[in-house]
Amino acid sequence: MQEIDAFIERTRDERLADFLELLSIPSIGTLKEHDADTQRAAEFIAERLTGIGFDNVEISPTGGHPIVYADWLHAEGAPTVLVYAHYDVQPVDPLDLWKRPPFEPVVENGRVYARGAADDKSHVHLHLWAARAWLETHGRLPVNLRIVFEGEEESGSDHFDPWIEANRGRLSANLAMISDTGFFEGNKPAITVGLRGLVYMQIDVSGSQLDLHSGSFGGNVQNPANALATIIARLKNDDGSVAVPGFYDQVLALTPREREEFARMPLDLEAFKRDHGLYELFGDPDFTLLERRGARPTLDVNGIWGGFQGDGSKTIIPAHAHAKISSRLVPNMDPERTFQLIRDFVLSVAPAGVKVKISKLNDGMWSRTPIEHPAVEAAADSLEEVFGERPYYLYEGGSVPAGATFANILGLPVLLLGFTQPDDQAHAPNESLRLDNYEGGLRTLVRYWQRLSTETF
Ligand SMILES: [Zn+2]
Repeated sequence: MQEIDAFIERTRDERLADFLELLSIPSIGTLKEHDADTQRAAEFIAERLTGIGFDNVEISPTGGHPIVYADWLHAEGAPTVLVYAHYDVQPVDPLDLWKRPPFEPVVENGRVYARGAADDKSHVHLHLWAARAWLETHGRLPVNLRIVFEGEEESGSDHFDPWIEANRGRLSANLAMISDTGFFEGNKPAITVGLRGLVYMQIDVSGSQLDLHSGSFGGNVQNPANALATIIARLKNDDGSVAVPGFYDQVLALTPREREEFARMPLDLEAFKRDHGLYELFGDPDFTLLERRGARPTLDVNGIWGGFQGDGSKTIIPAHAHAKISSRLVPNMDPERTFQLIRDFVLSVAPAGVKVKISKLNDGMWSRTPIEHPAVEAAADSLEEVFGERPYYLYEGGSVPAGATFANILGLPVLLLGFTQPDDQAHAPNESLRLDNYEGGLRTLVRYWQRLSTETF
């Protein structure tokens, strides 16, 4: 590791200049007028990958912005890691709130300021240089790597899943590592090990072809809006738990060690309420807020409509009423089975006199890698060695599309390791990255590949 640390030390200026060059390419994937820039960022990365010594470097077309693929597979007997990051960036408006032009990166107060400095060119660049550090000093990497750098993360990833599906034959790996996240509040090192899944549904209730006069028909027909309210009211118990029979049957209990790790994370509930403008917290008292967010399923109404919505009054019985509902899923819930349980329950509690339809709009898989998994332990040890603190384990309440993709399509354990932090202003004006996180991130990655090399999983 000494030679590698010396390499990192002596390339500091060169690396920073290279990073700033990448940041100066306005690869705003969502804007047509920047398509050539987005392509140029892909070419920049592909050129670096080739120069470093990766094989099969390819700017792979997707129907949208290309995926930059490369591999290095000469570490016989060592694990293969599929490394994900993205090179597209968010738009920059409102431009007048930027203190410096977003694509003229500057270093100030120990930070690099530019669009993409944190999200997510930092990680693209760190992975390039972590590999280079190994290959230049040792002529080899301790693990096998498959690089998948996306160019459409900020614009919906429409072509990502189809590309992964089409290329699954050459994406075999033991672990998916997503570098697009970061540390916990207060710049505390963290590894994200859990993401929730989702099933999204719509309920449609109809009673007649047209709205009816409530004076002429009230009392003689079922009201679809009332019927929908009845259905929705039956979905949850007063304590907030979900009343759908079987809903919790597949939920994996947290281990005592996982609960200990949750308890270790500092969280000031009053500050949390204040920061998010909440009046009250509400949830299952058997779990903490972070546990409920990361490791318990939900069922929520996301939207509800029907009947008269305008000013004043209009005396009708609406012809139909609708609701969007969604359920956040945790291990080991099956999205399709969860939908079927909810569907059967909704239909069974539907009041007489209306037609009720429930359809699934989309779903996504959860992912969770146990904290005892060798790949997680190796990451924790590497972070601790570099940053001097035992990392926290994060369980996201939402999902990260690439995480669901790797869990769903490739069936890989997913680990999210990144070095940004909550106040980097990703997606906002004056985005930046702490240079010490950047340097520490690089030292962590080179150590991580080393530690991982002797693990089997
Ligand atoms: Zn990102």
